[in-house]
Amino acid sequence: MTTAPAVSLPTSESVLSLAEAGLSACGVDPAALFVPEAPGTVAARSPITGTVLGHLAAHGAEDVDRTIASAVEAFAAWRTVPAPVRGRLVQRWGQLLGEFKDDLAALVTVEAGKTPSEAAGEVQEMIDICELAVGQSRQLYGKTLPSERPGHRLMETWHPLGVVGIVTAFNFPVAPYAWNTALALVCGDPVVWKPSEATVLSALATTALLNRAAAEVGAPENLAQVLVGDRAVGELLVDDSRVALLSATGSVRMGREIGPRVAARFGRVLLELGGNNAAVVAPSADLDLTLRGAVFAAAGTAGQRCTTLRRLIVHESVADSLVERIVAAYGTLSIGSPTEDGVLVGPLIGEAAYAKMQSALEAAVAEGGAVLCGGGRVLESEAPDAFYVEPAVVRMPAQTPIVFEETFAPILYVMEYTDLEDAVAMNNAVSQGLSSAIFTSDLSEAEYFLAHSDTGIANVNIGTSGAEIGGAFGGNKETGGGRESGTDSWQAYMRQATNTINYSGELPLAQGVEFI
Ligand code: NAD
Repeated sequence: MTTAPAVSLPTSESVLSLAEAGLSACGVDPAALFVPEAPGTVAARSPITGTVLGHLAAHGAEDVDRTIASAVEAFAAWRTVPAPVRGRLVQRWGQLLGEFKDDLAALVTVEAGKTPSEAAGEVQEMIDICELAVGQSRQLYGKTLPSERPGHRLMETWHPLGVVGIVTAFNFPVAPYAWNTALALVCGDPVVWKPSEATVLSALATTALLNRAAAEVGAPENLAQVLVGDRAVGELLVDDSRVALLSATGSVRMGREIGPRVAARFGRVLLELGGNNAAVVAPSADLDLTLRGAVFAAAGTAGQRCTTLRRLIVHESVADSLVERIVAAYGTLSIGSPTEDGVLVGPLIGEAAYAKMQSALEAAVAEGGAVLCGGGRVLESEAPDAFYVEPAVVRMPAQTPIVFEETFAPILYVMEYTDLEDAVAMNNAVSQGLSSAIFTSDLSEAEYFLAHSDTGIANVNIGTSGAEIGGAFGGNKETGGGRESGTDSWQAYMRQATNTINYSGELPLAQGVEFI
């Protein structure tokens, strides 16, 4: 088994100082934030040390009610502001995100354990979606259609929808919020955010920057509010009929719970749920490129991306040599605190994730798999409450039951294939449908894969993770069907109407119906 070099850890005090500096820079006073621990408070933790940074007051049912009521009021004012003018708020927010990029990224590092480069990339994604949304604010267009009746015009128009509730996951504490919020705001909607209970500080800093932008451009109050709390607070948003759209990012389990609840009140729901992403490696693949793409996608972010590469489906002719190179590359990954230079693999979010990783590895072995490297815990004696692991590579005889599960940790299952049709069938066999990739130099193989892979994102010669905001992001099947950020995703935040205008002076009925 390979032992990756481990890197030392900072003290809890230095992690807290990093968080406080980030909060202060973004306009949140840390001294006013933390409260004594009490029933109902939320613990802000860092997975870097596993220690509690402080406790935050959580919102109750009355707070949620008041928050949504004030968002409804904000909607009444905001919807009347012309969309290109609404764009100025998002433009200013994007500028502030650029100005305080490092500070917000530091909070993402503290709370989610991401390396500075990945945390900065997440904030960059927020800046990118702001730019896209500003442009979109001048393009909330509808089609004009030919009417079957003389002297009539038929057109499609788009109108602000109402309050948008946003529920987000721990592993992308801020970017999915921005995907939703930048578009919702230009579409004329206020937002109410229930961030993951694990990443509240990043959420408060993000919202402080947005509210500063709102004050500077003279936007109405309460366009962007945060609710602190666990799933119980999320459920209040889910069930409130004043929330026109509930956009939720998280596990399939969460989506399965909230989807029917929002549907029961005929609300609109946008789900971005778990993935179980595969890459097919064809005999013609450039193996140098494949190696880099696979290792980043599988071990980056400690395997805690919805788009993490979890299944590598390799042609039998190249499987041995590629696996050998991946195992060797895993041995060079430096694991440890993301505050240290050169670290590529940070911590898991917590103990439950570590336990799930261990039981998945045990199940894989029981199902005939061979753990080729990784899986072990490192830095345990330095930080007993932090959970650093060596990313694992497991060679499987086939896609056994454990491979069908999304274990939110760095485990890469490797399977072989003989015919491309079988490889694509293996890719599609799981219940999730987020991202997939093929590595090949053969155009017809690439096109076959793109035509038959059933995931919302399908790539050629890049890994499964690291999407750009210009394309619509989301997945099919149990990933929930939602689409966020680019192309037509803005339409989810608007109400569509079909308008027929009669300028004929007559009243011909459609389909030639005769009446009076
Ligand atoms: P999670 O499902 O445990 O929690 C996500 C959010 O939902 C949290 O804010 C949580 O408080 C809230 N929540 C949970 N149950 C709820 C309920 N019944 N009602 C209302 N709110 C509820 O997920 P997590 O552990 O924070 O994140 C990891 C998961 O998220 C993985 O499955 C990952 O694939 C997925 N994810 C998906 C995407 C995507 O875009 N598809 C992006 C990031 C993460």
